[in-house]
Amino acid sequence: MDRIDFPAFTTPQINVQKKYSLPSKVGFCTRCVISNQRPRISFDADGVCSACRYAEWKRTRIDWEARAKELEALCDKHRRSDGRFDVIVPCSGGKDSGYVSHLLKNKYGMHPLTVTWAPHWYTDIGRDNLHELVHHGLDNICMTPNGVVHRIMTRLAFINLGDPFQPFIYGQKNFPLQMASSFGIPLVMFGENGEAEYGGDMKNALRPCHDTDGDMMKHFFSGVAPSEWVKHGIDEKDLHVYAGPSHEQIRNLGIECHYMGYYQKWIPQEIYYYCTEHTGFQANPDGRSEGTYSKYASLDDRLDGFHYYLAYVKFGLGRCTSDAAHEIRDGHITREEGIVLVRQFDGEFPKKHYQDFLAYTGLDENQFNQVIDLWRAPHLWSKVKGQWLLNTVISDEPAFKVAASM
Ligand SMILES: [Zn+2]
Repeated sequence: MDRIDFPAFTTPQINVQKKYSLPSKVGFCTRCVISNQRPRISFDADGVCSACRYAEWKRTRIDWEARAKELEALCDKHRRSDGRFDVIVPCSGGKDSGYVSHLLKNKYGMHPLTVTWAPHWYTDIGRDNLHELVHHGLDNICMTPNGVVHRIMTRLAFINLGDPFQPFIYGQKNFPLQMASSFGIPLVMFGENGEAEYGGDMKNALRPCHDTDGDMMKHFFSGVAPSEWVKHGIDEKDLHVYAGPSHEQIRNLGIECHYMGYYQKWIPQEIYYYCTEHTGFQANPDGRSEGTYSKYASLDDRLDGFHYYLAYVKFGLGRCTSDAAHEIRDGHITREEGIVLVRQFDGEFPKKHYQDFLAYTGLDENQFNQVIDLWRAPHLWSKVKGQWLLNTVISDEPAFKVAASM
């Protein structure tokens, strides 16, 4: 990958704890392995996290047959018989979007258009999986943004926002809305409600959809709209593709954004099995992804590992914590097994594509490490004999129970 003309390397002043309102004392959920450092998560008086309560609610209180009927009614409302597309499925080519689009087409008789915002740098398996999905009978539009602009924004997002994925997330969320608006397709079906499933803002947990204005900014865009990047020297016309239609346009066109996870119980392992059977999906050929034990999520992009690694740096919560927490809630593993997995894999450095990441962002190793250390919250990390260590790691000790007053 050729070097391009990147802006000069400068680092901002950051107070990570304040920026994300992280509690000073780290506490872990008494049922899963997530901690109170996950932004927007809440805990009840028993020290149980909002995601575990939501999982319990899904198991015991939700009438899934009634939800399936709601989905049928939604499809009946939007299904078209004149050949036009009637639903957009934002699609990486991974198992979740493969499941949603295949199900809508084959079980509900919809005519989906899958819309892909291309990864920064495809992995072979990611490209193969998207190819397979299309060749299992689905239409696809793939938008690949200007590589020079995207690399500059990715570098700036890594340095200034502590997440190289922010520009990608703009496209992933907004581009399907642009396509819905352009093609006159009033329904957009996302996968799961990540806030509810993984712990966060629960305001949409019992709704089928999210709001396209405030929720997008708060949950996905770190409070920074694409248009604000002009401040970082990005040309306004280059930002157009990252922006969605305005909230007024969305409302006027009657575009609705729904979560399949509202209508169908969202169980990643079962979705994986569904896709190996129906969409030609293949898991990570390396056996597992770096930083976790799972082999079937986020495989498309060589830069994926750095998105998760930064979460580990900022919140002490890596990719394995997220995977294990969900599997505990699904009843596939115990909390004790989850703890063992987290201790073994969480925070593993994504070395396989490290050189690719440096080449893509035009950073050298020294600059990379400076940025990483900038995003380490002091209440989470200490340097011991030259090595960064988390102050509090998950343990099976009862002393880690979250205080009710938290
Ligand atoms: Zn929990």
